[in-house]
Amino acid sequence: MNRIYLDNAATTSLDPTVLEAMMPYMTEKYGNPSSIYSYGRETRMAIESARKSVARHLHAHPAEIFFTSGGTESNNTVLNSAVRDLGCRHIITSLIEHHAVTHTVEYLCHSNTVRVSYVNLLPNGHIDMQHLEKLLSSSPDKTLVSLMHANNEIGNMLDIMAVGNLCKKYKAIFHSDTVQTVGHFPLSLRDTPVHFITGSAHKFHGPKGVGLLYVNENIQIKPFLHGGGQERNMRAGTETTYGIVGFAKALELATENMEADTAYILSLKKYMHQQLNEKIKGVGFNGDVLGNCLYTVLNVSLPKTEKSELILYNLDINQICASGGSACTSGADMGSHVIRAINNNPNQIAVRFSFSKHNTKEEVDSVVSKLTELI
Ligand code: PLP
Repeated sequence: MNRIYLDNAATTSLDPTVLEAMMPYMTEKYGNPSSIYSYGRETRMAIESARKSVARHLHAHPAEIFFTSGGTESNNTVLNSAVRDLGCRHIITSLIEHHAVTHTVEYLCHSNTVRVSYVNLLPNGHIDMQHLEKLLSSSPDKTLVSLMHANNEIGNMLDIMAVGNLCKKYKAIFHSDTVQTVGHFPLSLRDTPVHFITGSAHKFHGPKGVGLLYVNENIQIKPFLHGGGQERNMRAGTETTYGIVGFAKALELATENMEADTAYILSLKKYMHQQLNEKIKGVGFNGDVLGNCLYTVLNVSLPKTEKSELILYNLDINQICASGGSACTSGADMGSHVIRAINNNPNQIAVRFSFSKHNTKEEVDSVVSKLTELI
């Protein structure tokens, strides 16, 4: 039995071309990028050309690009520095952000004089823009808005331009967690009114453990990690040269093939949506599934029965990888904070299927057929 991997919003396979680009920096080219000898300068050049390449693909300036250990560190850096360095005393966010944001916001609110407001959600999981404007217009304090570009569990996409323009109007700082959209969606940061975005290579066939932090050139923050002067004094620690090279290569490949990959993956998602509707009685979908939603994610809602409660385990026994929520809760029976926030229906079980260019229609057929047996 072949494994069917439909958990690509959690992590993706490493592209062999990316591995090939990384390999020299994992083997013979291991010199310290901060050294003065030429052997180290070679790795420094690899990092700087990766930075330029990432900046080019995101339409940003290389000076605005910093490499970190992943989306979690990038989000932590933004939220901490918005409070500490930019004087934000009010954070507006939502209950459906990734835990890298929600848990950091909770921590900041417990340990600082910062308050949090949660923007209302519409029944389809989109944020209520009118409520956002109300929160912004009535905030007497310097405010940080932290709202993700695409939700990792239901795929809903934020109107990043509209939110950015609102933030501009009320002079708020705007951070968008773009971990699910960097490498999947064309971003032009030059034309997007956003102060911070974050990304992670392993979401688009790059290596794990390397992230992106974009800081708009008009913003000045201090480092989150203290130590050496790497990343222009912004992120201490010897650079993961192979990871950074892998990030840039993965983003280059993802950008080159984005149009074709998007169309193909969307066709798989639509096909699975249609097949499930046809073959499973009582099936539903969480989020704005065929509307303003990322093409990689399909969050399915099944009627709760003794069998459907065990669905993730039974899928696993059948070599099908899917999850109940974000990577950190998948497989665990804690339930999903996202599903709870948008649709607190105890009689439904949510299963997230997330696709990549490596999935096929035949795999979708097998999963749908297995699901009909398992519930
Ligand atoms: N933000 C979102 C939306 C994510 O989906 C993830 C990964 O699950 C993260 C942040 C954390 O990224 P990383 O795994 O690189 O720390």
